[in-house]
Amino acid sequence: MGGGVRVGQGFDAHRLEPGRRLVLGGVELAHEAGLLGHSDADVVTHAVMDALLAAAGLGDIGQMFPDTDPAHAGADSIALLKAVVERLAGEGWRPLQVSATLLAQRPKIAPHYPAMRACLAGALGLEPGEVNLAASTTEGLGFVGREEGMAAWATAQIGPR
Ligand code: MG
Repeated sequence: MGGGVRVGQGFDAHRLEPGRRLVLGGVELAHEAGLLGHSDADVVTHAVMDALLAAAGLGDIGQMFPDTDPAHAGADSIALLKAVVERLAGEGWRPLQVSATLLAQRPKIAPHYPAMRACLAGALGLEPGEVNLAASTTEGLGFVGREEGMAAWATAQIGPR
């Protein structure tokens, strides 16, 4: 492997369900509903993992962590992200920079950016300034606007270790 700088993109979406924990970028937010999934359903972290795997040409998180595997039930997605970073390291790659955009109608995300950036950066071996987060509502449109779910996109840049 090895080589120059590479870029990958990732996407994820999860359904919202009342009473679930809402975990975004490794940070638990106080909210009346949370994301439903086999793991903690951290949609931001999942998009980041897919972007990293894509950059390295290693497929996606569905291949790396099958949701049929009971070992991943309720999994902490930050721990899964660390496993992705180790997998990349094994192939000679390290993260250089990550950018993620979350689509969520509620709650307000911006107050949580610093904690989310610090948490993701810690798992990625990056500085918080190398991990950007953005969030947008969809002005009430679609499944995000109806608060049926949230979605996230991410882009990751990786380079040789
Ligand atoms: Mg997911």
